[in-house]
Amino acid sequence: MTAQGKITASFDAAAARADFPILSRLVHGKKLVYLDSGASAQKPRQVLDAMSEFAGTDYANVHRGVHYLSGAATDAYEAARRTVQKFLGAAREDEIIFTKGGTEAINLVSYSFLAPKIQPGDEILLSVMEHHSNIVPWHFLRERQGAVLKWVDVRDDGSLDLEALDAAINSRTKLVAITHMSNVLGTVTPLKDIVARAHAKGVPVLADGCQGAVHELVDVQALDIDFYALTGHKLYGPTGIGALYARRAHLKAMRPFNGGGEMIREVTRDIVTYADAPARFEAGTPPIIETVGLAAALDYLSGFDRAAVKAHEQDLYAYARSKIGELGWARVIGDAPGKGAILSFEAEGMHAHDLATILDREGVAVRAGHHCAQVLMERFGVGSTTRASFGLYNSRADVDVFIAGLRKAREILG
Ligand SMILES: *Cc1c(COP(=O)(O)O)cnc(C)c1O
Repeated sequence: MTAQGKITASFDAAAARADFPILSRLVHGKKLVYLDSGASAQKPRQVLDAMSEFAGTDYANVHRGVHYLSGAATDAYEAARRTVQKFLGAAREDEIIFTKGGTEAINLVSYSFLAPKIQPGDEILLSVMEHHSNIVPWHFLRERQGAVLKWVDVRDDGSLDLEALDAAINSRTKLVAITHMSNVLGTVTPLKDIVARAHAKGVPVLADGCQGAVHELVDVQALDIDFYALTGHKLYGPTGIGALYARRAHLKAMRPFNGGGEMIREVTRDIVTYADAPARFEAGTPPIIETVGLAAALDYLSGFDRAAVKAHEQDLYAYARSKIGELGWARVIGDAPGKGAILSFEAEGMHAHDLATILDREGVAVRAGHHCAQVLMERFGVGSTTRASFGLYNSRADVDVFIAGLRKAREILG
């Protein structure tokens, strides 16, 4: 059975790894150890092939042509929408809007849904562990319309305090915007409980699922959530494509986002009327090839037993966590129960960038910096961290190379 086949009882990580051509290349003469999937995941040949096959056989612009290829491309594009619908458990395909990534999906909600509702003093509730993509669109509403950003803290272990979140929701709260999984701490938030608390007070919830959709099973109907954003390039798919799930009732009331072709019903010199969702929010020619690639990536991921993939990643994290603990000089940030496979740490006396540079010489790709989460860096009193993030293709051998690289860095820098 191939790695893409339906393996229901377990997950063969070595077979999956063989699907990713880039993982067999050398970096600085060393075997690549890719521990930066949290920034962007590598792509399996199933995705690369789907994109190139589509571009080579069925490509044309979507939705506007009467010719054969335009129909074929439109079919592929709309089939991809149904793939995302299924992946997220949405009730309807027209609740899925294609965007150029996670950032644009959240900006869409800010501009089209929330901005028209905001009066000065209205509150938007965020956690301190948000990615800048789930902070700056709300800062726009603060700067331009007088919205107030309220912040829910995390505990020292990086876990979210649900009671504190609940207590912070009041009659001025217009939205709770929260990550499903932190890209720095790995914390997974209890979305279902968060939605229940917020809805009890009549407040809608947006989840930034850019990490969560990769590592957790998502069912937007079971979560009863209002908005869920995901991005292709972290889901083993291409860049330039993401999606927003939005509840149908919200979409009907939302103003258009970008203006242009495809999103209109009629345009005259004096008036314009708009198409219904999803077209209303997808102005212009979309990234058609990338959309096909996203669907291939979701099919690829869904072809595995997701629980087994998660167990594999959790094993890698636990192994790395214990090995890094043995070093005695790395301070791990983020130890929340049930957290995902992201390991962020500060190394005594060593700058994260120096550390990452030495690791790179060993062929190990990790990220160093603030990870687009400066509010969180401030919360933990650090300027930057080094982050190893795991994907389904990583192995314990990768962890061993990473830890050996850390020991070497200590000799050089420490
Ligand atoms: C990567 C990421 C984003 C941004 O997504 P893009 O598709 O790169 O714009 C937002 N939030 C989180 C938690 C992320 O990890």
